[in-house]
Amino acid sequence: MPSSSAERGQQGATTETGEVIIVGAGPVGMITALGLARAGIGVRILEANAGIVPEPRAMTYHWTVHEGMQRLGLLDDMIAEGFKLHQMCYRILATGEVIRLDIGAMEGHTAHPYAVVLGQDQLEAIVLRHLARMPNVRIDWNTTVTGLAQDADGVTVEAEHEGVAVRRRAHWVVGADGGRSRVRKSIGVRFEGMTWPQRFVATNVVCDLEAHGWDPCNHLVDPADGAVIAKVTRSGIWRVTFSEDATLPLDGVVERIHAYYARVLPAGMPYELVLHSAYNMHQRVADRLRVGRVLLAGDAAHVTNPTNGFGLVSGILDSQVLSGALAAVLQGRAPDTVLDRYAEDRKRVFEEVASPSSVETKRLVFHSDDPGRLERDLQRLRAVAVDAALSRRQFMIGHRLQTPSLVAAA
Ligand SMILES: Cc1cc2nc3c(=O)[nH]c(=O)nc-3n(C[C@H](O)[C@H](O)[C@H](O)COP(=O)(O)OP(=O)(O)OC[C@H]3O[C@@H](n4cnc5c(N)ncnc54)[C@H](O)[C@@H]3O)c2cc1C
Repeated sequence: MPSSSAERGQQGATTETGEVIIVGAGPVGMITALGLARAGIGVRILEANAGIVPEPRAMTYHWTVHEGMQRLGLLDDMIAEGFKLHQMCYRILATGEVIRLDIGAMEGHTAHPYAVVLGQDQLEAIVLRHLARMPNVRIDWNTTVTGLAQDADGVTVEAEHEGVAVRRRAHWVVGADGGRSRVRKSIGVRFEGMTWPQRFVATNVVCDLEAHGWDPCNHLVDPADGAVIAKVTRSGIWRVTFSEDATLPLDGVVERIHAYYARVLPAGMPYELVLHSAYNMHQRVADRLRVGRVLLAGDAAHVTNPTNGFGLVSGILDSQVLSGALAAVLQGRAPDTVLDRYAEDRKRVFEEVASPSSVETKRLVFHSDDPGRLERDLQRLRAVAVDAALSRRQFMIGHRLQTPSLVAAA
């Protein structure tokens, strides 16, 4: 393990009040910590796990986050470790038709007209390396937050570290502890929305689909066997994510994965299944993203089905706005009402843009069982594919996920 303060756990109770505690060293917690630390704020992250846990989750980061990632010094590392994606395609399983949409249509509207692809664990490792260089960030691993209480001056966080109760105090707390957020529950915030009757089975598989004519990023459209099939690493790991009834027993999932591959992947192609996980899917948003001195970000604040790849992207955009606003409040450059604005803006774009567009793409890719509607959808996509202005409009949705910075730069 590296030896910087970002990597050393700290044990024992303390009465000292820190500036910010972030609960959760997932990507959103760590990116928020980096933004705050770079603005000169002291941050302590409390994380239940012992380190980064590889999971087949996020892998595609849309152009909309790149400017902010570059400001944090992360973008070059992301591109160096992952790769740029210039096209996304819809592949119709029944007919073999492929409709390619060119992200390059965003040229002239952003300095970064491409998506970046790399595994969520790779991204987390990059952010962790950057945090390790910050003397004002510390990560307490193996530390599970159990509850919190706030007063006029700060927040007291209760946690457990290797069976020992610990108590930490800070002026502000950011709950970036994922969809089941303990922080969200502790502040009495409801997580409104719905849970899908399907789950996603996400698999990492070593294979060479490009040799069989597949694009690096495919939305495989089919009412029974729809999937997102995309290359995750340069070394040849692909992600195959398909949908199944959420009531099926998890016990037989490996057999179902191989059966799915047999139905959909090229016959006889050698492959090795290296990682898999099943995820229940939801469209949910916290009824408030701020309660007093506690703020929510990322999946703790909102969750969506990942067909569009808008979950972490939305969380990264939360963290970019939040870290600037919270640093300004702590440094007396802005009133704390900017945090109310953070809460309102980020909830609104999730409800108005991220969630409905993800629902729509899920419908097209996984539930295209109305032939008339499917044909209308495909006609629209075919038109987009050959028209740069329409393509631009399609990809401008990334812009609509953004909300403006709430403060002047420090
Ligand atoms: C199959 C799949 C594919 C996806 N693909 C994409 C994609 O391509 N692009 C995209 O943008 N998004 C994608 N997503 C969504 C993305 O994975 C999530 O939005 C992202 O993980 C959210 O990050 P987070 O930091 O908010 O939460 P998490 O990643 O869930 O991290 C939360 C952290 O908090 C810790 N924690 C939880 N409880 C406590 C506690 N009580 N005390 C201390 N620590 C705690 C956890 O251990 C964890 O480390 C995908 C999701 C899935 C399931």
